[in-house]
Amino acid sequence: MVRFKTIYCLFGFMIIASCDSSVKKTTPEDNFLQQDTIVEQIPESEIIIIDSQITFEEAIAGTKAPQDVIDQLVLIDVEYYSTDNELHRGQLLLNRAIEEDIVAIFDSIKIWRFPIAQAIPIVAFDWDDNLSMAANNTSSFCYRKVLGTDNLSRHAMGMAIDINPFFNPMIWKPPYENRPNKPEDAQYNKETPGTLYLEHSVVREFLKRKFTWGYYFSRYYDIHHFQKYK
Ligand SMILES: [Zn+2]
Repeated sequence: MVRFKTIYCLFGFMIIASCDSSVKKTTPEDNFLQQDTIVEQIPESEIIIIDSQITFEEAIAGTKAPQDVIDQLVLIDVEYYSTDNELHRGQLLLNRAIEEDIVAIFDSIKIWRFPIAQAIPIVAFDWDDNLSMAANNTSSFCYRKVLGTDNLSRHAMGMAIDINPFFNPMIWKPPYENRPNKPEDAQYNKETPGTLYLEHSVVREFLKRKFTWGYYFSRYYDIHHFQKYK
């Protein structure tokens, strides 16, 4: 599951310049002429590790969502540096209404090298949010209710996203603080890369785009959760 890229002009120039110090100055035209003859794999550090590569039909298989909700969804590829510091490609199943926001936010996340452990549509966890959270999985659409209520979550519309839930657990506020975090054995440590906190640049990016952060929910800090209303 490894993808190689081809480097043309720039790599060609670098090889010519480094192999022969007496080489004449290379003009842009010369570089252009070289582009059919220099074919190299990109350095190993730039190989993309594929975390998810499924079809839309596979991503919605088994969901209990009604057709009018499914019709609002889109499956997108996202690239990010994971906790192994390697470039990965995963997928998010989300509502078209937040596609532009999430693409832009993930562009920043990649540039900033904010680690995303993995991004795999929740069908891979048999639609079980607890299993997805325990796996530190970043995901959006899941047709389910809000914890402890009969209200549909914004995840049920693909209008919410959870970022690294194991690093950013849901923590109860007083007077409920004796209840366990979600996921249960997660420890919140701001020093861990991939962890969110007040004034974090990733948080600011979501707020700038009019998402609500679960940190401000009344009964718990839902640190991994961002949601939007149309
Ligand atoms: Zn959430």
